[in-house]
Amino acid sequence: MSIKPDLSSAVGHTPLLRLRHASELTGCEVLGKAEFLNPGGSIKDRTALGLILDAEHKGLLRPGATIVEGTAGNTGIGMALIGASRGYRTVIFMPDTQSREKIDTLRVAGAEVRLVPAAPFKDPRHYVHIARAYCESLNEQAAGSAWFGNQFDNTANRDWHQATTAVEIWEQTGGGIDGFVCSAGTGGTLAGVGAALKSRKSAVKIALSDPTGSALAHYINRGELLAEGNSISEGIGSSRITANFQDAPIDLAWSIPDQESVPLAHQLLRDEGWCVGGSSGVNLAGAIRLAKALGPGHTIVTVLADAGTRYQAKLFNPAFLREKGIPVPGWLQQSFGG
Ligand code: PMP
Repeated sequence: MSIKPDLSSAVGHTPLLRLRHASELTGCEVLGKAEFLNPGGSIKDRTALGLILDAEHKGLLRPGATIVEGTAGNTGIGMALIGASRGYRTVIFMPDTQSREKIDTLRVAGAEVRLVPAAPFKDPRHYVHIARAYCESLNEQAAGSAWFGNQFDNTANRDWHQATTAVEIWEQTGGGIDGFVCSAGTGGTLAGVGAALKSRKSAVKIALSDPTGSALAHYINRGELLAEGNSISEGIGSSRITANFQDAPIDLAWSIPDQESVPLAHQLLRDEGWCVGGSSGVNLAGAIRLAKALGPGHTIVTVLADAGTRYQAKLFNPAFLREKGIPVPGWLQQSFGG
């Protein structure tokens, strides 16, 4: 019998996929953790669940309370769905720059969505600060009625990846893993998986694949928070060091342009049938770079964080891609009748 009693128990335990093109190109086994197969469609279901279970355990999230979170969308979707199944209302604050598909999905999932203009973190109008302040206002009206997830700086996020994602990867590779690479939004995945893998096998290389426009790769390589350029990827990159990212054991870091990552996401769909989002393209680019750095014969694991359908109007839109200076593959052009 392997019946899942509820949504929470269906989070995680995702398959590890062999990525054929990247493996053949590098002579390594390049493997992708299929996180888009989570119930809410992304790796952030794990974060949502880890934060919620921790808060329930500590008595911070009481029955019937309101979950408040600031998110680029995916964590909110996870919280709304887990909230629905565990009896919580969810209010999500997100920047208005995120994909229409994620906003629609959040609303369908039952979240109350409040879009706020994009602002830097040091600005009090940044979506995370507004979410925190809103949560405090609910608790002032009725103590204990709301809980702020705080995914960026609540290290229950990293700890959950350490206890689940990393353990699955270790078991699925039979410990035969040589490198792990992914991008960082909160940093929970990279720091949690990185720490757990290193504790089991110190020779495992941990790498950050950072989209252009993020300051993290520059910070790791030169010790300075400096961002250049931009990216169409969503949910990844940062201008600051979050509590979750803080202690990530990173050996190598690269800044990856869209011109490198988006064609890999396109190719993965066209040649292997996996429809993944922009952050997965950045991760795959990082996996290929790490495989090349380690040389043939190694096993590299990365993350396929969410599905490309979540970014249909950007990632698979020839006009949008052209406007951003990203190559449009012939098959995509043809499928739009061009
Ligand atoms: N990919 C996508 C699509 C995401 O939404 C996120 C998180 N916002 C990440 C990757 C990064 O994961 P983490 O927050 O664990 O660094």
